[in-house]
Amino acid sequence: MPTISGSIAKLKASSTVAFNAKALEMKRSGVDVIAMTAGEPDFQPPEHVLEAAHEAIRSGMTKYTASEGTRELRQAIVDKHARENDLTYTPEQVIVSTGGKQVLYNAFMAMLDPGDEVIVPSPYWVSYPAQIELAGGVTVGVAASAGEGFIPDPDAIAAAITPRTKAIVVNSPSNPTGAVYPDDVLKRIADLCDEHDLWLLSDELYEHIVYEGDFTSTASHYPERTLLVHGASKGYALTGWRIGWGCGPAPLIKAMNKLQGQVTSNANAVAQHATRVALDEIELTRAFQSKTRAAYKARRDVIVTGLNDLGLRTPTPQGAFYVMADLTPIDADETVAATTLLERAHVAVVPGTDFEAPGFARLSYATSMEQIETALERIKRLLD
Ligand code: GLU
Repeated sequence: MPTISGSIAKLKASSTVAFNAKALEMKRSGVDVIAMTAGEPDFQPPEHVLEAAHEAIRSGMTKYTASEGTRELRQAIVDKHARENDLTYTPEQVIVSTGGKQVLYNAFMAMLDPGDEVIVPSPYWVSYPAQIELAGGVTVGVAASAGEGFIPDPDAIAAAITPRTKAIVVNSPSNPTGAVYPDDVLKRIADLCDEHDLWLLSDELYEHIVYEGDFTSTASHYPERTLLVHGASKGYALTGWRIGWGCGPAPLIKAMNKLQGQVTSNANAVAQHATRVALDEIELTRAFQSKTRAAYKARRDVIVTGLNDLGLRTPTPQGAFYVMADLTPIDADETVAATTLLERAHVAVVPGTDFEAPGFARLSYATSMEQIETALERIKRLLD
């Protein structure tokens, strides 16, 4: 067989996807595994959005759309950010892609030349470094510790800037830590981008899952150079529908769309229509978001208290639906510890290795309270 390309051969497979697949495979083969791997809401999407998708199919909204997304959805995105974030965009400053992942990939490809450096506070989501590498860039991690609640220090970010730095990534609320960065930290990072003429890429997928305080979009500090990355997966429980969007300067959006037009064309037409309804039917969507947020918060409180009581140090996150737990009491090597949890307690988690979080693992609590309580009991039995 001919060889696989060198760049793909050396690309790491996504560990969030891989560990989730492993848990699902064990489940299929009859093992009662509690999967705390994927960051995926366990709620059905809101009824009005499901109905909109049916209506889109029935009325023939099933053809190709413009590569950058329908005018109607892009206008709904413009309206959403004006209403909720006080940001002013035009539809030409918006691109709709196949999930937040494709927005990010388009962005790194459009921003980076070979050797360009991208600063990413760690622990970080596994796909940033992989995508940066595919775009020829180099990831420069700036570590934030559990003791600091995984909030990065802007001075450490400033110290990591070199003449090759092209962009800084922020992700608040964060996947994998759930940390919500204070506004002054976001502002300092935005100022650094301004001072050094850098792109600021702000991944805001978890905007609607913040438990304490108000969410501030990073884009509000530096709209001229910020690419705001968002999507329907988390706050609207539409993971499998694969709708993400990016808002930013028109030349960047145009470059991203040039790439997208050659690779996938438009995101799924039916899902675009349903997402427009999710954004426009404000009251119904808000009710859904309040209900799910309250459920996640109750689960967060139980899992954080439960893990800390078991001696697994777990900082309290202010957002998203993940906790990072220190698994070193199980094993100093987080992959061994996660494997032990899976094989002996049948609790599936993602080891911190690819998040740059040695000793830790990520647990998603987007699962029922009953499953969380059972998982805690199983971990207790293992530790006993
Ligand atoms: N973003 C989710 C996670 O981190 C989904 C998996 C993925 O796309 O990597 O679990």
